Amino acid sequence: MSDNEALSFASDKQLLTVYVHSGFDDQSANRQHSLLASLKSLDTQLQQKLNIVSGDPADQLLRLAQDQEIDQVIATRAYDTEGMIEQANVAEALHKNSITLKLVGSYYAITPGEVNKPDGTAYKVYTPFWRAWSDKEIPSPFPTPELKLIDPVIRDYPTPAGEPSIKIKAGEQYALQTLGRFKEVVDTYPEARDKMAVSGTSKLSHALSHGEIHPRTVIAAIGFENEVFIKEICWREFYADVMFRNPHTLDEYFDSRFENMQYDSGQLADERFEAWKNGNTGYPVVDAAMRQLRETGWMHNRARMITASFLIKDLHLEWQQGARWFESQLTDYDPASNSHGWQWTAGCGTDASPYFRVFNPILQGKKFDPQGDYIRRYVPELAHLDSHSIHEPWDAIDGYSGGYPERVVDHAAEREETLRRYKALKDN
Ligand SMILES: Cc1cc2nc3c(=O)[nH]c(=O)nc-3n(C[C@H](O)[C@H](O)[C@H](O)COP(=O)(O)OP(=O)(O)OC[C@H]3O[C@@H](n4cnc5c(N)ncnc54)[C@H](O)[C@@H]3O)c2cc1C
Repeated sequence: MSDNEALSFASDKQLLTVYVHSGFDDQSANRQHSLLASLKSLDTQLQQKLNIVSGDPADQLLRLAQDQEIDQVIATRAYDTEGMIEQANVAEALHKNSITLKLVGSYYAITPGEVNKPDGTAYKVYTPFWRAWSDKEIPSPFPTPELKLIDPVIRDYPTPAGEPSIKIKAGEQYALQTLGRFKEVVDTYPEARDKMAVSGTSKLSHALSHGEIHPRTVIAAIGFENEVFIKEICWREFYADVMFRNPHTLDEYFDSRFENMQYDSGQLADERFEAWKNGNTGYPVVDAAMRQLRETGWMHNRARMITASFLIKDLHLEWQQGARWFESQLTDYDPASNSHGWQWTAGCGTDASPYFRVFNPILQGKKFDPQGDYIRRYVPELAHLDSHSIHEPWDAIDGYSGGYPERVVDHAAEREETLRRYKALKDN
């Protein structure tokens, strides 16, 4: 509850705190339980005085405000597509009944929409955005407020379906401990962050996406001298800015020319999609990454790029299909980072990595998991292979003795096919 501008703003009032749960949709058990863990931790901090309701936020907040004779609802302003729509609906429902919605602060160090080119327009490329963003003064973290909490009237905790496959830790205290641990090793980040087998990154993404820690707090602790890391925080801010200004890009192409790219559909495409989701494509690093996602609810950033590229450019499926699967699995799901991480890889986003840049899953594995430890951890069928053969089991005598599946496609051939489709798009 520290560094929360909306809570600080509300601290001189009698407060009824509320969380509205609007459904789990098709989220994995890990993702559902990770939300529940965050909710329980927040509730503990609020001395078990958090109201929890399920349903449409506009209906639920209006009902609660009317029942409890509340004249103002306060929340942190949302900048993602669905959050903005939701808050507009809440504002309208409350306003019709003479209740105000006061939106305060944001979950970003610099509020989306505030970093502009000298001519006032938005940046569409990351590097100049970073320069302008890092020139801005980042406010100091807000202190933890004393709150005057009203006893709750409804505590309808959501019930997740299924059991998580991991031990879930969440909450502000855990986030601050994670930040403290990372601060001790931040010097190693520039080199370690790309190694998939080691824990070389901060693992702060869950806490950032659940609002358990504010980027102001992270930046104040780590400092701009650790520029490689701060630049990653800035990617999150950049994508939030792009999403805020282009809300349609949650699930539509940022570069609309790519709507006309030829993608595959039908039974074979569906089978390949299933193989990708389940980590059975026959490409070791892709499968390790997809199984890491399913088993832990998190995936290494390098692996996110490799698996996204594989879906789009080796299987010729649309980025939205992959993005929706990530959304259902990732406990750090963030609409802007996810959609624009996918669009970057697909070549249709901001700064797009050129469409003709096709990640080679074998070379990526050799470079970023040289000993094969990441693959060994998640793909036991390959654990018996040495660090060379593990990346190309098809060349090893006993490559398939552990029951590992054969490749669903031939990378070299699909790369050519991707380039052919790209050329056809450009020529039209
Ligand atoms: C296809 C794809 C989908 C992604 N989906 C998400 C998502 O749903 N949620 C999410 O938080 N990140 C997403 N990312 C970005 C990135 O993979 C994760 O933020 C990172 O792996 C989280 O681990 P960490 O906290 O240890 O990262 P660190 O390397 O320690 O970075 C610190 C923080 O910086 C931010 N960050 C780092 N890299 C990026 C990036 N490329 N884009 C935006 N922000 C970044 C995150 O908030 C992260 O917690 C996606 C990337 C790709 C390529």
